[in-house]
Amino acid sequence: MQQLKNQNYKNKYFYLYQISYIIILSKIINEEFNMNKFLSDKANSVIPYVQGEQPKDKKYIKLNTNESPYPPSKNVKKAIIESDFDDLRLYPDPDISDLKNIIAEKYKLESENIFIGNGSDEILAFSFMTFFNRGDKIYYPNITYSFYSVYSDLFDLSEKKIPLKEDFSIDINNYKNLDSGIIIANPNAPTGLLLELNEIEEIIKTNLNNIVIIDEAYIDFGGESAIKLINKYNNLLVIQTFSKSRSLAGMRLGFAIGNKELIKGLKNIKFSFNSYTINRLSILAGIEAFKDEEYFKESVSKIINTREKTKEELKKLGFKILDSKSNFLFISHNKVFAEDIYLKLKDKGILVRYFKKEIINNFIRVTIGTYKEMIIFINALKEIIN
Ligand code: PMP
Repeated sequence: MQQLKNQNYKNKYFYLYQISYIIILSKIINEEFNMNKFLSDKANSVIPYVQGEQPKDKKYIKLNTNESPYPPSKNVKKAIIESDFDDLRLYPDPDISDLKNIIAEKYKLESENIFIGNGSDEILAFSFMTFFNRGDKIYYPNITYSFYSVYSDLFDLSEKKIPLKEDFSIDINNYKNLDSGIIIANPNAPTGLLLELNEIEEIIKTNLNNIVIIDEAYIDFGGESAIKLINKYNNLLVIQTFSKSRSLAGMRLGFAIGNKELIKGLKNIKFSFNSYTINRLSILAGIEAFKDEEYFKESVSKIINTREKTKEELKKLGFKILDSKSNFLFISHNKVFAEDIYLKLKDKGILVRYFKKEIINNFIRVTIGTYKEMIIFINALKEIIN
């Protein structure tokens, strides 16, 4: 009996010892990994997306965040100047129906096929919540828009990265008959490489039981949009942005087009999160920018021309240039390391994007600026390379 009591005592002390050991250990781990006890596990662990830098120390030529070098349409300015200031006391239209109607009309769809978001990033985030459950797989290329990985982590999805081919292109055979949803940026970022519409369709029709999201942030610079296929496939969602070809990055506007049921799902998530995602001035700006087709075409074609001329100049300097169909170029030099080029350009007042990441760490991504900016950029490169 006494022996049993002693044994119980021993066990108790042993467990107490173990518990205090675990508490001390978790405190050490928390401090070591900079975890804060007031934050959720996710807030403690998630690694946020890193945007292109916006230094304030001097005025740079900004070729690092794929914005348009041209201002928005003059009609946008007019609409904002003439808007009713007093109306800012009122909430904006939660349905954003005026803008939706204009987009629907252009594509001969109905407004129930359109969803408007605060930048396409917001629509991407909503899509990860709308079309995937916790733990679901999501497929995308191993080199693509890095926000996809951040959202996968944020929403607890299991990311399945499909390697690009050696030439950085997407092999569509790797995307046929998968067992879960897919997201593809077309053109892809940061490579700028485009899949033709028939290739995109091949992916959609071999995945009829999976959602296929096509992120067309850069489609206007040389590709054919999958919006054409919306009425044919109910598993397709196309996402576009006003930030690039419509020069409205500062207003934060994007739109998604899809089957009504998919759009309804996105709305369920949005209205469970924030009813008024788009402010009054952004709505006005979006309407005018979308209506001014002539100005849109003119600035897009200027950017495409400048891109092609820049490619020629870069070739002469010995750069390897991927055949971008977007408003940026992804380039690498055989003699000077990309990080050096990035740092030296920055010294000279030119910002480009450098990703310190396996496979692409000898490339820089250069947004197409005005023709004049690209001449300054090429001249700076000549000095750096020689
Ligand atoms: N998709 C891709 C591929 C992008 O590069 C970007 C811009 N960084 C976005 C979506 C988001 O653009 P925005 O939120 O400005 O519409």
